[in-house]
Amino acid sequence: MADKKIGWAIVGLGEFATKQLIPAFGVCKKSKLVALVSGHPAKARRIADEYGVDPQHIYNYENYDTLRDNPEVDVIYIVLPNSLHADFTIRGARAGKHIMCEKPMATNVKDCEAMIVACQKAGKKLMIGYRAQYEPFNLKAIELAQSGALGKLKSITADHGRILDPSKPLDKWRAQKELAGGGSLMDIGIYSLQAARYLTGEEPIEVSALIHSTPNDPRFKEVEETVHFTLRFPSGVLANCTSSYGYHDTKRFQVFGAEKTLTLDPATDYYEHKLILEGEDGKQELKIKEENQFALEIDHMSECILENKTPKTPGEEGLQDVKLMMAIYESAAKGKPVKIR
Ligand code: NAD
Repeated sequence: MADKKIGWAIVGLGEFATKQLIPAFGVCKKSKLVALVSGHPAKARRIADEYGVDPQHIYNYENYDTLRDNPEVDVIYIVLPNSLHADFTIRGARAGKHIMCEKPMATNVKDCEAMIVACQKAGKKLMIGYRAQYEPFNLKAIELAQSGALGKLKSITADHGRILDPSKPLDKWRAQKELAGGGSLMDIGIYSLQAARYLTGEEPIEVSALIHSTPNDPRFKEVEETVHFTLRFPSGVLANCTSSYGYHDTKRFQVFGAEKTLTLDPATDYYEHKLILEGEDGKQELKIKEENQFALEIDHMSECILENKTPKTPGEEGLQDVKLMMAIYESAAKGKPVKIR
């Protein structure tokens, strides 16, 4: 049992799956890649060949449901455009497999709830791929923020930005509301939102937001460019968060305590992080070993299956973010704060 590796199928062989997730199986301890689901047979065969996946275990979106007949597949990892997450999760659970799904979990609350119900009904686990919650620098920042090491927490700022370039396949669907669900908020603002929630360990009670998209920029005909949102937490902590498709690569947060300020920048990069603590006694960079966060999150799910535990970032965690993002859009549309029940 100790040596058993859980079998994974990856659905969608795009940028993230092929460049980050699939290579990470090479360092996983409890997980092995055993099947691929793709709309591009030649690409799937090339990847199967490169990573030692049996070519008999290549599926497409039409025969996806026949994964139910493959006993080597324990978990299906959905790495498709956002609005397709719900359908493939529900079908995967009905095929009797555990599900890992990329962020954002879905593009609306109803789909998130249906995904949770489908996995519950099938008696299968559902985890959302919130890699930062498995990454050592972020875990250290959470520990410092919640242990009192910074003094009483006052404020958080979190910013995520990248330039949207729809001439690239990975950004073509991101500019389409039907596939992406929204713009920078759904794609990368979710990291700012997550950070505010996992750093405080609290749930916001009120949000207020402003949205701006450059007029006449065709990239923002359907999805928003820049979002600023403020979260009020029960303890009194205020989080000021931004996301934008219009500013250069940014992925950072700061936590302001009464005694110290913590800066993680980059905070949500794939392979590079820098953690600084600053107080009366000066500035200090904390040296922490970089680890492959993709392997850590994949192995976490495998461990949950092997030991019958609930994943640390289950469907309910994804649902909460989607609920809050809807409240952020509502606040911006109404021009006033929205209370969270
Ligand atoms: P991508 O465009 O590179 O990959 C998407 C894949 O879906 C492609 O292989 C494409 O062929 C396939 N696909 C199937 N049906 C499609 C359709 N109707 N339209 C467009 N593509 C279709 O995108 P990506 O950057 O790999 O993102 C995929 C998912 O992973 C998204 O949900 C995204 O939010 C998530 N993601 C997460 C992280 C992270 O750090 N956790 C990073 C990047 C992407």
